[in-house]
Amino acid sequence: MQITQSKQLFSRAQQRIPGGVNSPVRAFKSVNMTPLFITRAQGSKLYDADGNEFIDFVGSWGPMILGHAHTEVIRKLEETLLKGTSFGAPTEGEILLAEMVCEAVPSVEMLRLVNSGSEAAMAVLRVARGYTGRDKIIKFEGCYHGSVDPLLVQAGSGAMTLGIPDSPGVPASFVEHTLQAKFNDLDSVIKLVEENSSKIAAVIIEPVAGNMGMIPPEHGFLQGLRDLCDREGILLIFDEVMSGFRVDYGGAQALFGVLPDMSIFGKIIGGGLPVGAYGGRQDIMLQVAPAGPVYQAGTLSGNPLAVAAGLSTLEILRKENPYPELGQKTSWLSGEFQSAAESAGVPLQTQAMGGMFGFFFSETPVRNYQDALNSDVERFTRFFRSMLNQGIYLAPSAFESLFVSTAHSEKDLERTARAFRKALQEK
Ligand SMILES: *Cc1c(COP(=O)(O)O)cnc(C)c1O
Repeated sequence: MQITQSKQLFSRAQQRIPGGVNSPVRAFKSVNMTPLFITRAQGSKLYDADGNEFIDFVGSWGPMILGHAHTEVIRKLEETLLKGTSFGAPTEGEILLAEMVCEAVPSVEMLRLVNSGSEAAMAVLRVARGYTGRDKIIKFEGCYHGSVDPLLVQAGSGAMTLGIPDSPGVPASFVEHTLQAKFNDLDSVIKLVEENSSKIAAVIIEPVAGNMGMIPPEHGFLQGLRDLCDREGILLIFDEVMSGFRVDYGGAQALFGVLPDMSIFGKIIGGGLPVGAYGGRQDIMLQVAPAGPVYQAGTLSGNPLAVAAGLSTLEILRKENPYPELGQKTSWLSGEFQSAAESAGVPLQTQAMGGMFGFFFSETPVRNYQDALNSDVERFTRFFRSMLNQGIYLAPSAFESLFVSTAHSEKDLERTARAFRKALQEK
């Protein structure tokens, strides 16, 4: 594969953009490669600056559930564009999008639009703290909620209950109210709640973890959190930025039948444009300014173009209900991967749910962050390169989920399965 143009662009980019990219995951650093500069995308395919074609399983990290440059979404965008790009005043589209999300997601009664998932996470914590009058929050090791100071805590094994910032520039005092629990381990949450009785505002979780590789919740785990939060007056927040409209039209909460008090969204609800949103119970959302005292604002929030792309995407999803079909695609791929791994004698764990899937090179099932870290990252790196060379574009990290879209054809999936088989055989 020729990547001369991408290499040139990358060295130019590094002169003026830190690390040459505007978001670290794009840099291909963890697989020790040059990132590919993309010039266009259509359906299930990405095209890079050297003219290489790839079957794309990143989908812009989640939003592109209808595939790239979907005709109807583009048409809606063109139509909207001609009327002006931003007014700083309310528009009907914002109501329609809020109505659609409330109708789709069982627990959401009111919604506020922002510009990214990170912004939604930042805002929802403020609202939860404002509403409960408590400061502390519980998050889970390995769950990602955007590049938000108090949530940028991973906490190694020795520091389970102590917030240790993940990045320079986050003062220790900013994360002193952040407590870390273990995914799929209700006891770890109960322990934190007991040690901090009446001080915890919220538990925030990715109901289907997608940012440490894909790890679904075990049976009873989410319901256990719901019951615990109810007993203790703690708000349960589902971060459905990735899982929302991805594992099911109503998100993970519809799929598992566990309703949080608050949810955050992004990715799919912006149809490929910058969007985030937070919402939930009406009595809580009425705390948000100007209805209530908790301040939150944004110049471009509810931007007409982003709203148009989101609306158009959700309308198509609602009409076509592609989730059974997406689920068939991801489980077919997982099955193929699994059987290829078995015949190659490579230990592999796979997961699939709706339009989302993932795998770990691991002997044992992966239930939490520690298990994920124990998977064979070096094998992943070799594997990733082979797949890329065969025209399959995966997320350049062993700790990411993968996505299929309605645009992925049977032929795309078969080609991917064949490439997988071959990649496992390469030394
Ligand atoms: C992507 C993501 C975010 C952050 O959203 P941005 O739009 O990148 O700020 C937050 N939470 C989860 C679960 C995500 O997958």
